[in-house]
Amino acid sequence: MIVKRIIKNSYNAIAILIIVTLLFSSCKSERRIEENRIAMGTNVSITVFSQKDAKLLDDAFLLLSEIERKISSKDPNSYVSKINSCASISKVPVPDDVYSLIKRSVEIANQTDGLFNPAIGALVDLWGIATDNARVPEQYEIDAVLPLLSCSDIVFDDSLKTVYLKKKGMKLDLGAIGKGYAVDKLREYFLSNGVEKAIINLGGNVYVLGWKNKIEREKWRVGIVDPLAQSNMLTEVDIMNKAVSTSGGYERYFESDGIRYHHILSSATGYPTDSDALSATVISPDGALADALSTAAFSGGSEKAKELSEKFSVYIIIYTKSNQILRFGEL
Ligand code: ADP
Ligand code: MG
Repeated sequence: MIVKRIIKNSYNAIAILIIVTLLFSSCKSERRIEENRIAMGTNVSITVFSQKDAKLLDDAFLLLSEIERKISSKDPNSYVSKINSCASISKVPVPDDVYSLIKRSVEIANQTDGLFNPAIGALVDLWGIATDNARVPEQYEIDAVLPLLSCSDIVFDDSLKTVYLKKKGMKLDLGAIGKGYAVDKLREYFLSNGVEKAIINLGGNVYVLGWKNKIEREKWRVGIVDPLAQSNMLTEVDIMNKAVSTSGGYERYFESDGIRYHHILSSATGYPTDSDALSATVISPDGALADALSTAAFSGGSEKAKELSEKFSVYIIIYTKSNQILRFGEL
């Protein structure tokens, strides 16, 4: 068996590009500060137009590493890892923000019929996609893991703020919502520091804050990458105060015996999801929601996109395997 591990770049290619140049700012007193670093396992680029100094961005990156330390399933000391290692053993008390994020994730899972599923960790670990251990599991292994993926086996205690996984081997994975959540936290941080204009890009989870040019009422133009030719733009959207998140199977995958297996998995089949979508982009004022729903819309394809866009009042762009660009909802 030939196993070829492919990750477009080791930190997850950026699925969304800001294609409008940032060279000009409308106001003379406005200063542009920008910082690019690796955080939350991806390329992070933050651009802020503000009178504040570079410490504003240093603190933004500190905030990101705090979030990562709390929710990453790859960090053995995170709350998520603690919850996972205490599965079937004990309840784990967690801070309010982590508690709310996990609860919200379960709500979104219930509203997407599990297309987005934060309880998918055991299956993610079994496939090991985007790790050195990526492989196609045996059917008996998948069968053993499928009963460990149900959100109804996550027990919450609202007064004690504890989370408990009922079954041994169950694991939470917030990988499909965490970056969008972090985008929201950064937006709150910038707003509370008086920033009116910023671009946050966490590996394809983008937020554009404020007008690009307030006087001329000009919005930001955000380009969506063509999954088949990633140096090309598929389409673009003009937005402000909105998050854009794209999920696709073209960035993180491996090949085995000539078959490509991507990193978004179905808790129904135990295999990578298979819809008509090559990529799904969700636009919403809410970054966490956009992130979670882009995973769900990619999994469910055009068949589910209409329902998701109506249910959550979000705008969805699906690029199909037959090279159509389909749009659902209102921008
Ligand atoms: P990316 O993190 O590459 O931007 P996503 O936001 O779609 O892409 O999240 C994918 C990650 O979420 C996977 O790497 C895995 O950790 C986890 N995951 C895989 N399948 C699902 C799913 N159906 N629901 C929720 N999380 C998933
Ligand atoms: Mg996602």
